[in-house]
Amino acid sequence: MKRGNEKREYHFDTRVIHEGGIGKSWQGSTLPPIFQSAGNIHETAENLSDTFAGKRSDHIYMRLSNPTNTCLEEKLASLESGKKAIVMSSGMAAISNGCMALLREGDEFVSSKSLFMSTYLLFTNIFKKYGITVRLVDIHDNEELKSAINEKSRFVYLETIGNPGMDVPDVDRIAQTAHQHGLPLLIDNTLASPWLFRPIEHGADVVIHSTTKYFGGHGAALGGVIIDAGNFDWNSEKFKDFKPFVDRKGELAYLDRVWREHHINFGTTQAPFHSYLTMLGLDTLSLRMERHMSNSIEVARFLKAHPKVSWVNFPGLEDHQCHKTAKRLFGGKGFGSMLTFGLKDEKSCFKFIDNLELIHNIANLGDCKTLIIHPWSTQFVSFEESVKKKLGIAPEMMRLSVGIEACQDICTDISLALEKIEW
Ligand SMILES: *Cc1c(COP(=O)(O)O)cnc(C)c1O
Repeated sequence: MKRGNEKREYHFDTRVIHEGGIGKSWQGSTLPPIFQSAGNIHETAENLSDTFAGKRSDHIYMRLSNPTNTCLEEKLASLESGKKAIVMSSGMAAISNGCMALLREGDEFVSSKSLFMSTYLLFTNIFKKYGITVRLVDIHDNEELKSAINEKSRFVYLETIGNPGMDVPDVDRIAQTAHQHGLPLLIDNTLASPWLFRPIEHGADVVIHSTTKYFGGHGAALGGVIIDAGNFDWNSEKFKDFKPFVDRKGELAYLDRVWREHHINFGTTQAPFHSYLTMLGLDTLSLRMERHMSNSIEVARFLKAHPKVSWVNFPGLEDHQCHKTAKRLFGGKGFGSMLTFGLKDEKSCFKFIDNLELIHNIANLGDCKTLIIHPWSTQFVSFEESVKKKLGIAPEMMRLSVGIEACQDICTDISLALEKIEW
């Protein structure tokens, strides 16, 4: 964004469109070009050597950085009230790099047990192979959280809105607890988006997103991002292994470590075309979120009143156990646009899905289109039944991501599909 001498403060809804390198050297184009080039030419040998040595900042090779990606990074750091961001090839790339940068063999971390399925598998199965232990807790129980923290703990992790648990943890209180124990708080903010909630303003140190979801908004491109608040003090005894990164980048030591040790070596690079598509999507984030919020509450109420729906799990409903917390954190703007609800059993769920005409049966969310999935038989199909039950995944459970179509049409599609099921 062009900045004059006068320091004007722009609102979120304006920054979401204009923030991020626009107008730098793009020959007047309003959208960032897709820099589709594996490497970048340097005029002199000294120039490239200085860039490698970190004496000057420039692009070298696409695995390390790309100008199109940089635009998206500037935009997302601003939208999440962070200092700096790195975009990656997927939400899972961001989650694995973001955690790995803090972990060494023998370390532990504490996480909410209400997690996205792949995150759960990464934490419980994959990290185990590297000698890393996750302590899964009921994050709503502060005593349980405190007692899981010990001298080996390196961070606390949670999702703003659990997917698909639909719980909303008290971020202010958890940030306070983490900091009292000298630990950073990492938050996956995918289901809220910074339009609804900005974790850094409530004490989080690192924010992670799958940009595949609301940011892109059209189910067109995969992507992930890590945003560093730049507020955490890495100078403690516990984090003395961060010293080289603190010496190099000061308050941005964590993101430097993510980039230098993990992102560029694991090669989790974002394709610039995906960044471009994500930026196109972001232009309409605020408008889409408004409609997502109003549609989801209406659909939740419609489902709740339906005789064939046994239960509805949505923090926007007044009797939800996290309703008050969600209302406080999200300032009454909404409650996300994903919800789960119960039918009779697995068979009724299959029939229901097959009867739908408008709503897509698909493993994605945060799309402008309304999407549905039966988690028990899909994302969690390889899990043991006892684990599924412990995670709150029930055979009669449907997960619905409410889109931005005419709400009446969404409810009619559900209503007609339910009408045709007998029980
Ligand atoms: C989808 C999702 C992810 C993973 O993102 P990908 O872009 O699919 O890798 C992580 N966390 C949450 C909450 C998600 O919904």
